[in-house]
Amino acid sequence: MFVGHYSAALAAKAAEPRAPLWALVAGCQLIDIGWSGLVMAGVEKMKIDPNLPGSPLDLYFMPYTHSLPGSLVWAVGAALLSRLVLRLPWRAAAIIGLVVFSHWILDLLVHRPDLELWFGGPKVGLGLWNYPLPEMALELGLVAVAGGAWIAKRKDLGMVAWPAVLFLAFLTAIQMISSMGAMGEDVVKDGAMALAVYLVATGVAWAVDRGRA
Ligand SMILES: [Zn+2]
Repeated sequence: MFVGHYSAALAAKAAEPRAPLWALVAGCQLIDIGWSGLVMAGVEKMKIDPNLPGSPLDLYFMPYTHSLPGSLVWAVGAALLSRLVLRLPWRAAAIIGLVVFSHWILDLLVHRPDLELWFGGPKVGLGLWNYPLPEMALELGLVAVAGGAWIAKRKDLGMVAWPAVLFLAFLTAIQMISSMGAMGEDVVKDGAMALAVYLVATGVAWAVDRGRA
């Protein structure tokens, strides 16, 4: 799952506008941000297998980011940092933690069984990745529904809709680019590219959020 993760950030922004959009956008991919760094460092491991149906990623070792307990630690850590460092209200901080954990739930739908239930435990994943078209429809559908809720909330708050529409267009564009640009054998390069996309999305979200009414 790639762009579909952003649906959690947008739904959360509609539910709790006090949470900064950049923190939600970074939060929904925080587990993959950590994963990119750990893959580049050689701590977590993957390989590219072009023979796999749909996504070519063989994610055979990623306990620190994508196991159930690992992702819970990232989520609780993000909620505490949001409260203590960003000084957000508890509700907003808790929602950021939930958005971080949503990453694991959404990955569970699409990944082949590569998500450990506990360290060294059985691996789960429902494997929607094996069916690229329904998988893509799910991701874009989630973003459309959550984006609609976010735009409606902005209207309620007297904010203009167009920055939100631009952000949705941006998300659609990065989905298109990522599905065209196949990942290569060089996992360090793949990790760096993924990380760059997550950070650019966070920066764009920060810019969109600045234009408050
Ligand atoms: Zn992930």
